[in-house]
Amino acid sequence: MTRTDSRGTSGARAAVVPVSDLLAAGFLFCRTRWGYRFRNRAALLRWQQRRLDKMLQGRGLHWRELPVIDKSIVLADFERYNSQGVSLAEALELAKASERSRDFRAELDGLTVGLSSGTSGRHGVFLLSSTERLLWAGTILARVLDSAALRQILSPWKPALRIAFLLRADSNLYNTVRSSRVAFDFYDLLEPLESHFEKLNSRQAELLIGPASVLRALAEAQLSGRLSLRPRKILSVAEELDESDAEFLERSFGVRPGQVYQATEGLLGFSCRLGTLHLNEQHVHFEQEWLDAERSRFVPIITDFTRSTQLMLRYRLDDVLRVAEHPCRCGNPALALAGVDGRADAVLVFDGVNIFPDVLRRAMALASTEFQDWSVAQSGKRLLIGLRAPSQEAEERVRDELTALFARYRLSVPKLEFGSWQAPAPGAKLRRIQLLAADARREGSTA
Ligand SMILES: [Zn+2]
Repeated sequence: MTRTDSRGTSGARAAVVPVSDLLAAGFLFCRTRWGYRFRNRAALLRWQQRRLDKMLQGRGLHWRELPVIDKSIVLADFERYNSQGVSLAEALELAKASERSRDFRAELDGLTVGLSSGTSGRHGVFLLSSTERLLWAGTILARVLDSAALRQILSPWKPALRIAFLLRADSNLYNTVRSSRVAFDFYDLLEPLESHFEKLNSRQAELLIGPASVLRALAEAQLSGRLSLRPRKILSVAEELDESDAEFLERSFGVRPGQVYQATEGLLGFSCRLGTLHLNEQHVHFEQEWLDAERSRFVPIITDFTRSTQLMLRYRLDDVLRVAEHPCRCGNPALALAGVDGRADAVLVFDGVNIFPDVLRRAMALASTEFQDWSVAQSGKRLLIGLRAPSQEAEERVRDELTALFARYRLSVPKLEFGSWQAPAPGAKLRRIQLLAADARREGSTA
């Protein structure tokens, strides 16, 4: 499928953003970048509490009395959880029509509608007003642009800043960033990645944005000489960025990738200049449902006090967040994370003991000189392992590492079954670790 725009280039669509919108985005940008200054974490949390109270008072609600909700509850009662009375059927119809036509500009009464890739079964749907879109754009630009990129945008005599966005779906969200100073190319992941190489090479984007698995594929192409990109900044979105992937990207492009932690539920975090992932606590309040006594991991329950179209009030996410051992030295008092462990069902359970994704990832990384990629799935008491470019030695090394891992947890080693690795479907999220059996449940302690 090819698509053409007014300039006749596939994928890159021109969109004119009104000056007023640009000014608004600029204002939000400045406020995000320079506006909020908190002396310490306590000051940030006090400010958050005031924002929460203010938002809820207007609705006659008390935060602690609100029930905790999740995706299935919101989808079952969609109209109640958005202020515009949009039904799930309406939202889904528009979002799916956009997905089919690959034209993502349609709106529903001025609202942007988007669909999240539903790897865990059901699609997530999001609704954003134009103001919320601007907030998103301003925030993301403020967080990801370095001062050189900023200078380039603000200097009319310099070429526009080029951003390459490799995603499954384009969105009005991204059009918001597009202007005469920001050239924004959307590369559709439902087309073969190789089909974009020529354009990627000729456009030479300064900012490369895509899911970790896609960036990894680009890095492989770069190393093999099929791509020759010189991005100044790389951003991983929509998937957790593995430490091994981050290192690989840095080796290939010479730039340390940053990451944005974003979901249908909102803009939840971004990495700072030191590479630490911080929660977006200037917009979202995070309650912690702790999973261990050491309080190193939690499932977040979020309340977004900047969004009013779709209400995110005490909304429980599927993710497991790992807290960084030390506060970040960058000065941002927002909570620093060691990582996001993707969907919670990627926590494997053997005899009631949780095996967290980062533990499993480390074991696989230790064994991984022999193979290029891997996947692990638990099915009851069996562990199904897929290795990309498998070999006898690779299987032996994986067997050794996993045996050591289970020994550390004083667990008997499950039955290890090796098979071949399967690349994720185009546009699908990469999930290396999956829990297939419905009978095994994560056993978390709630503090
Ligand atoms: Zn930091």
